[in-house]
Amino acid sequence: MKLNKLFVFALLTLYSFATAVAQEGDQILDGIGETGLIARYVFDENTKDWSRNNLHAEIKNATTEFVKDKLFKSALVLPAKSKAYISIPSQTLNSVESLSITGWIWLKSNADNQVIFDFGKSSKSHVYISTTNSGKGIQSDIVSETEGTFKTTSEGLVADRWNHFAVTIDIADETFTTYINGKRLSETKIDELELEKLFNTSNGNNELYIGKSIADNGGSLDANLHDFRVYRIALSNRQVRRIFFNALGMENQVNERHNENDNLHAFAEDTPQLYNQFLTAVEDVQVETALGHLPRLPRTLPATYSNGVPGPEVRIIWPAPTDNSATLKAGEYTVTGKISGSNITPKAIVTVKASTETSTPNRALEAFNLEDVSLDSDTHGHQSKFIENRDKFVNTLAETNPDAFLYMFRNAFGQPQPDGAKPLGVWDSQETKLRGHATGHYLTAIAQAYASTGYDKALKQNFADKMDYMVNTLYTLSELSGNPKTSGGAHVSDPTKVPFGPNKTAFDSDLSDEGIRTDYWNWGKGFISAYPPDQFIMLEAGATYGGQKTQVWAPYYTLHKILAGLMDIYEVSGNQKALDVAKGMGTWVHARLSQLPTETLISMWNRYIAGEFGGMNEAMARLYRITNDSSYLEVAQLFDNIKVFFGDANHSHGLAKNVDTFRGLHANQHIPQIMGALEMYRDTNSPEYFHVADNFWYMTTNDYMYSIGGVAGARNPANAECFTKEPSTLYENGLSAGGQNETCATYNMLKLSRNLFLFEQRTELMDYYEQGLYNHILASVAEDSPANTYHVPLRPSSIKQFGNPNMTGFTCCNGTAIESSTKFQNSIYFKSDDNNTLYVNLYVPSTLNWRERKVQVVQTTAFPKEDETRLTINGKGKFSVKVRVPHWATNGFTVKINGKTQKVNAVPGTYLTLKCKWKKGDVIDLKIPFQFHLQPIMDQQNIASLFYGPILLAAQEDEPRKEWRKVTLDAKNLNESITGNPENLEFTIDGVTYKPFYDSYGRHSVYLDVTLK
Ligand SMILES: [Zn+2]
Repeated sequence: MKLNKLFVFALLTLYSFATAVAQEGDQILDGIGETGLIARYVFDENTKDWSRNNLHAEIKNATTEFVKDKLFKSALVLPAKSKAYISIPSQTLNSVESLSITGWIWLKSNADNQVIFDFGKSSKSHVYISTTNSGKGIQSDIVSETEGTFKTTSEGLVADRWNHFAVTIDIADETFTTYINGKRLSETKIDELELEKLFNTSNGNNELYIGKSIADNGGSLDANLHDFRVYRIALSNRQVRRIFFNALGMENQVNERHNENDNLHAFAEDTPQLYNQFLTAVEDVQVETALGHLPRLPRTLPATYSNGVPGPEVRIIWPAPTDNSATLKAGEYTVTGKISGSNITPKAIVTVKASTETSTPNRALEAFNLEDVSLDSDTHGHQSKFIENRDKFVNTLAETNPDAFLYMFRNAFGQPQPDGAKPLGVWDSQETKLRGHATGHYLTAIAQAYASTGYDKALKQNFADKMDYMVNTLYTLSELSGNPKTSGGAHVSDPTKVPFGPNKTAFDSDLSDEGIRTDYWNWGKGFISAYPPDQFIMLEAGATYGGQKTQVWAPYYTLHKILAGLMDIYEVSGNQKALDVAKGMGTWVHARLSQLPTETLISMWNRYIAGEFGGMNEAMARLYRITNDSSYLEVAQLFDNIKVFFGDANHSHGLAKNVDTFRGLHANQHIPQIMGALEMYRDTNSPEYFHVADNFWYMTTNDYMYSIGGVAGARNPANAECFTKEPSTLYENGLSAGGQNETCATYNMLKLSRNLFLFEQRTELMDYYEQGLYNHILASVAEDSPANTYHVPLRPSSIKQFGNPNMTGFTCCNGTAIESSTKFQNSIYFKSDDNNTLYVNLYVPSTLNWRERKVQVVQTTAFPKEDETRLTINGKGKFSVKVRVPHWATNGFTVKINGKTQKVNAVPGTYLTLKCKWKKGDVIDLKIPFQFHLQPIMDQQNIASLFYGPILLAAQEDEPRKEWRKVTLDAKNLNESITGNPENLEFTIDGVTYKPFYDSYGRHSVYLDVTLK
């Protein structure tokens, strides 16, 4: 059996699954990605939550007692006589859309009415299971004050041995199912039930008990417990079986690599796929490429359609090789593509040139400082969506107490907390190994807020004070590190000589009150973090990601946020201490990493999550650019993700040669690394780095992107934060249950697009920026608070879940949200290095102060609630204004200067240059008529999103649904099927309302099953 397994693994490694398989170990428990898991209580030696969410349970009415167990080594005892029970944190069910609860139980009494668990907002609205039929069965009940009661009973428990139970509530499927020992035993329909009817899913006011009923009217549970889990998804039959069999060591009872929770509608081969049903011919294409580089094949090609249907260019799915062997010698070869829903097979004739030479652009543009661009209200005096969202964040940020963000730093250095200081929760709580990450985002956010609040002196001063206070405290702490506690005392100043913590025999990641080390004098000079240096050192020695003391989370990820934040403060305010802290830690990192062999670095950076380093390469290269100290550039290079960037240590292929080496990988772990590659190109001019960034961008946006601009959401591999295991298979492998489109991945994609644009002014970069900005970033914030999304689900009738309204507990996405919403104005305009050209990228009401030219440009518009904008030039001089003609502007694009229509050739997907000797008061009017268009999923074209201009429209739903919403539209003119009011962007199709996704707060369908007639 073992041999067989090895053989299969070797085979898989030979093929493209290698990376996906390698990653499954740590992130996917029993075939279920950790994004589906809310909490896991193994109950082996404590009541701690093993998931990353730190929802630790507590035992009540008894001291925690464990017994040795033959099957599970150790189990928790609930002594019945003491009325002992377990209480789970009340916020555990925040943001759930469906729910599964599983666990192992050994009943010691066959009394009826023993409550195994009871979860709900009250004893009137809850879900619970209890013993019945003399301990041989369980009764599973959902009781809702408004929806009534749903009951099932299941037989099959056996006394005096372990039994596994699972209960699933599938809201989309409207089913409530109970399993015992891996078998589905009962199921009942739960029509129109929503989890908000049972739980407070936003404010966390719930009572969640194991071994006790909420009303306290059941019998005491007399049992041992093991491995109790709460999932945010409805587990499938197969997944429940797998949890059961895996625990018994019978892993091969359930096929390992079968598509899990795969309940997307499967379409028959002959289902019409949008325009492709009318397709009659597609042009072949000729492509050239340099020796060793895979060609960049166009993802769409011109096509002809029957019946006079004005179809778009057709989407081609090309094979995606995992190396560059096809281009290792000069000559010609042919690649054959596929078209979803069509038998036509277009060809690309590829000519491989004899030379390996490629050309890469120079950085030609500069961004304007945040303070030089202000957001304005629209032409009707209304606040734009940008101002609305900015104000939610800026006003709440102003209310925050910096001591909350410094709490864990002071705690790590053993320093007293000031009066009233309270720690943050979620990923910055005492024992979370990522603590300090929110502080990094916070530094950036207050720097940006400071630079963006020129409109309000008091606010600006508030953020100035916060920056000073934060930096002064961090500076004082970092000065402590590696220096004697008292003059002449023992200390270790060399970062490579850090000893074990006092009274410890190894490095560990124990951050508990009792376990944390605070001997900062031993940590080496310059160290700063919200935890001691152990996690960095353990990572070098092979530590993996996980909740145990021997495991780590992502030490360099957290550090990147802190260093980037410090440099942001330095850049907006000139605070030298901020730079000094960053330099000190940069030097510490240099000392540690420069002594490691390359193989160790490759292993570290390819370790799932543990090796996630955010944009450390970018931060270090930037520190070099600021300080001109080349040691920081050396560190930056040590963060090269060699396998992904270059294929291997010999730089055989990788992204640098246009090979997709990131399929199946964690999206947000890698996007910032790519930004780092681009920063390395800026600082070293090595073309390889440019190709890494440029090729990655092209592949992610073409082969992995959803219509909101998000790129992550695999259900294969089973982790919503990963790219799909193969490119261009979003329908086959994406749209994972329980949510996809991690919001911070889009935050990073926007940053990458913007940075690439500074090198190469391709319209598609800013077209993507606009798409992700309006349809994901703007759409990720709650209606009346700065609460924001983690994953944004796009399955039928999904609902957005918002968290962190008061900025008291941050996930990664809550962290990037405070950055996104304090810099909306940063990509509206760019200028050329020589100040001879102004780029107008986004149509947002705003005022630009172009200092170098002493010119002010005022943009007045209500875009996207109207399709025109006006630029008024206050100042004079000869310069070019380049305006973006978006790819969606297929209905015309007209320009008037001072009221006179200009003769221009505005091609969608280009920049139009208006070159003029401008004088004060000159007015440019642009009109970009919106039209409806569809953006289909590449491998299932009839599943498509509807756009009006750049705005994604979502069907407003009033109940959960399992199937895609069906819509029939006129093939020749979509307008014929749609009525509505463009001024408020509200439309109707077949009686159903469609609104911008960014204005959708209830249930929504972003993807539709579209038939063209
Ligand atoms: Zn995130």
